[in-house]
Amino acid sequence: MTEQNYPASIPTQAQVVIIGGGVVGCSVAYHLAKLGWKDVVLLERSKLTAGTTWHAAGLVVSGGFGTETTINMAKYTRELYQRLGEETGQDTGYKAIGYLEVASNAERVEGLRRQADFARGYGIDVEQISPDEVKNLWPLLYTDDLLAGFFNPLDGRANPVDTTMALAKGARMGGVQILEDIPVTGILKDKGRVTGVVTTQGEIQAEYVVNCCGIWSREVGKMAGVNVPLQAAEHYYLITEPVEGLHPDLPVVEDPELYLYLREEVGGLMVGMFEPVSQPWGMNGIPEDFSFGEIPPNWDRLMPYLEKAMHRIPIAKEIGVHTLFCGPESFTPDMSPMMGEAPELRNFFIAAGFNSLGILLGGGVGQIIAQWIVDGYPPVDISSINIERMSPFRSNQRYLYDRTVEMLGWQYAEGWPNLHFESARGARRSPLHDRLAKAGAWFGESDGWEYADWYAPPGVEPDVEHSWQRQNWFEYNAAEHKAAREAVILMDLTPMSKFLIQGRDAQQILNYISARDVNVEIGRCVYTTWLNERGTIEADLTITRLAQDQYQVVSSWSIHTHVLTWLKRNTPPEAHVSITDLTSAYALINIQGPNSRQLLSKVTSADMSDQSFPHLTMQEIDIGYALVNALRITYLGELGWELYVPSEFSLHVYDCLLAAGDEFGLKHAGLQTLETLRMEKAFRDYGHDIDNLDTPQQAGLAFTVDADKPVDFIGKKAFLEHKDSGTPDRRLVQFLLEDPQPLLHGGEPIYYNGVRVGDIRTGAYGHTLGGAVGLGPITHAGGVNKDYLQAGKIEIEVVGVRYPARASLRPMYDPGNKKIKGG
Ligand SMILES: Cc1cc2nc3c(=O)[nH]c(=O)nc-3n(C[C@H](O)[C@H](O)[C@H](O)COP(=O)(O)OP(=O)(O)OC[C@H]3O[C@@H](n4cnc5c(N)ncnc54)[C@H](O)[C@@H]3O)c2cc1C
Repeated sequence: MTEQNYPASIPTQAQVVIIGGGVVGCSVAYHLAKLGWKDVVLLERSKLTAGTTWHAAGLVVSGGFGTETTINMAKYTRELYQRLGEETGQDTGYKAIGYLEVASNAERVEGLRRQADFARGYGIDVEQISPDEVKNLWPLLYTDDLLAGFFNPLDGRANPVDTTMALAKGARMGGVQILEDIPVTGILKDKGRVTGVVTTQGEIQAEYVVNCCGIWSREVGKMAGVNVPLQAAEHYYLITEPVEGLHPDLPVVEDPELYLYLREEVGGLMVGMFEPVSQPWGMNGIPEDFSFGEIPPNWDRLMPYLEKAMHRIPIAKEIGVHTLFCGPESFTPDMSPMMGEAPELRNFFIAAGFNSLGILLGGGVGQIIAQWIVDGYPPVDISSINIERMSPFRSNQRYLYDRTVEMLGWQYAEGWPNLHFESARGARRSPLHDRLAKAGAWFGESDGWEYADWYAPPGVEPDVEHSWQRQNWFEYNAAEHKAAREAVILMDLTPMSKFLIQGRDAQQILNYISARDVNVEIGRCVYTTWLNERGTIEADLTITRLAQDQYQVVSSWSIHTHVLTWLKRNTPPEAHVSITDLTSAYALINIQGPNSRQLLSKVTSADMSDQSFPHLTMQEIDIGYALVNALRITYLGELGWELYVPSEFSLHVYDCLLAAGDEFGLKHAGLQTLETLRMEKAFRDYGHDIDNLDTPQQAGLAFTVDADKPVDFIGKKAFLEHKDSGTPDRRLVQFLLEDPQPLLHGGEPIYYNGVRVGDIRTGAYGHTLGGAVGLGPITHAGGVNKDYLQAGKIEIEVVGVRYPARASLRPMYDPGNKKIKGG
């Protein structure tokens, strides 16, 4: 322990306490200091880097993976590590030796090309090279079976310990106190807000606490009553004796097909592995004294993967092994980090779960968390990283164990469209699940929910054949799509989040939170956004008035916790309102299509005519022996109803609908069909094509705001300011490829008169429009409007080929909503 780290006593208060002195905690500290926050204390239970950071392989290879947010995090990190040595006098060891990813099958080449096309838009300089060029760069590689390499000359490697020390030094220079050998043993809180930490040396009162505890983050989260569902797993690399011809300037190599990465290490080879069947670790808790710890390696488990590695680097067969190293790293159930303010506790932030990329992302993580704390809101699109996406059940120990077995392999999995985890399945099922399975459903999974994605026809076993081209279910989806447009479909949307808001103040509270006026007559449904004070979108949802003092709020399940948290945080404690989560209480059966009225009329005594049952209204109707709440609404552009059925009646109602369905052409449809239909109608999906950075004007959702409503609401002022500033420079646009062949999966670059102006965020095949449809934002200084779109040549690039596309701000399918309004 150095003298400067050894306090006579610890401070009794600080503005921010950071727990954990790995690369992430030190980066948060550094960035808070950079933003001028000096009253910051970092507590480390052992020594800096003693957790996972000390043994990381130090790869800083951004390749082309991820989302805009993670790509920018990686890029920023790389730039930071390059300049930090000069700034602090402590070198990070960053070396821009380059990064080479190799591909030995055509589908992998296509996947990497798609990633590279996307990443280039964010300044990641990655180029496809030939196998001969791979050989020139890395003569010791076996390249005969390679089809291509993807090379990024600016990426490289850093020394994780030196990097952390440089961040710590920079933080100290900015006024942060870093204290080692001080474990945090408890979290102080009061009225839903963190107020400090308990340590072995006493308490520190604090306004903010940041949990950067790596594999310990789940335990530290528990101290605060906060859900941090991550699990440690073994991660291996092997270091050989020196090899002739190896030198430190050789690029880092990754071969995802063989689950390996390679780089030089003190004259020998470092061969790291992301094996497809991994081993969770620390199931009975992490040992107390686990500092600078190692896990005894299991040679037998690793041998098959090492043999595969030797195929790519044959010389390894002849060289002695110096070390087979195994250390624990934390993995999350969906392979994305968990960052941000805990939904359970105000001002308690988490930065954990980096899935073996903590060094690569560390700089960006610190920057985002620090900015988020200082500003009170995140500076980036947080859809894929927000801790709020994790449902409480994800902390279930058995679930985490079973899922984690698959997680290392995901690091190198081909990023196929519609790829789903295979482990820990079946956790959450709709009451209709078995019926849907019998009907031929292939199930996807999201947040534990099993959902019918598409249906195989009779006699066909539902299974996915992955491909970047049309997958085997393409035609089944086309038939479901056609049935929705021309007949009627049944779609199970039970996982949708459903909340009951009731009490004397329910209307007033919801009207303050919602951008639209929800003081409507009983039975009326309102589609609205929820805005924040900056006038950007927190959620989009439907709100139906059930009674004078009762509302049903429905959102997509991906923002379940966020909706609940936003609602609670914007409800004053004295308000007479109760919020109940009814998601599990109701099945949601979606009956949609031009024949939906006839079908429902057959099974109910209610009058389903347009006059008696107008669009965007809800009524209780009878179906069989059940009473269900029917809401006339659509998310796919047809006449249709959502049936909210008490769970115990759902099988009965389903059976009644099925029994009556044949004569109207009723067909089951899965969520792939929801996607192809809603894309044609350009209906937005929060967290996919719109996010927390978009204003309603940019998202094309200005109609979800009633700026003239008689009461004030969150975001009104900012909304009006945005409105006054005229046509937005960035707008979400709908695209249709003129060529019916190529597919859009998201991430494809958009060109306007040959200049890249954006990327497709979500893509699907428009079976009615006759080509691939995408939604993506275009940026143009001077405003994106109809005239601008019509004046230029629009093309979308799909794997290197630019295809002409139509672009529109109005939905291309049924722009006048004639189908929805029915008759
Ligand atoms: C073998 C291996 C190789 C890897 N290679 C790479 C790579 O090449 N590139 C890459 O990007 N990533 C790599 N990683 C992943 C990377 O090392 C981690 O993601 C990263 O180090 C995580 O940093 P952290 O700060 O979140 O966690 P840690 O480094 O584990 O830091 C957490 C700290 O919190 C402290 N702590 C815990 N509980 C308490 C408490 N109660 N009170 C106070 N302090 C506490 C711990 O002592 C620890 O020091 C690798 C991981 C492994 C296992």
